[in-house]
Amino acid sequence: MTCQDHKDLMMAYLDNELNDQQRRAFEAHLASCSECTKEMGEFQRLKHMTDSMTLVEPEDRVWEQYWNNLYNRMERRAGWVLSSVAAIVLSIYFGFELIETIVTDPAVGVLMKAGLLALLAGLAILFVSVLRERVYFWSRDRYRDVRR
Ligand SMILES: [Zn+2]
Repeated sequence: MTCQDHKDLMMAYLDNELNDQQRRAFEAHLASCSECTKEMGEFQRLKHMTDSMTLVEPEDRVWEQYWNNLYNRMERRAGWVLSSVAAIVLSIYFGFELIETIVTDPAVGVLMKAGLLALLAGLAILFVSVLRERVYFWSRDRYRDVRR
């Protein structure tokens, strides 16, 4: 077999595709031929490079990270919006219960009732807003502690 024949076998050798007899003959030639040994080194380097590239696939990982972050953000935002709306609705409901007697009192004018409702809604929104802010900063502080 010529050196070119052995060079044709190098990829197959690295991929473990040679049978025992072929492998022994190949290794015997490498031991006696410095040119093929050098060539083999190049092939090995190339194979390591392509192997590690297929293992890591950085682009996929970046996209995965991107979608994870996006999903987390969407999830958190949806959570905030839902709980905010729920808190506002509940505050208005229970607040309305409390001042229902005033609102349903025919002696109280319509403008007064509207004003009370607006006040109540405003207070509910403020309450939720402050609560959100508190929880936001609290969670940021917690993250900071974790990173330390
Ligand atoms: Zn050779």
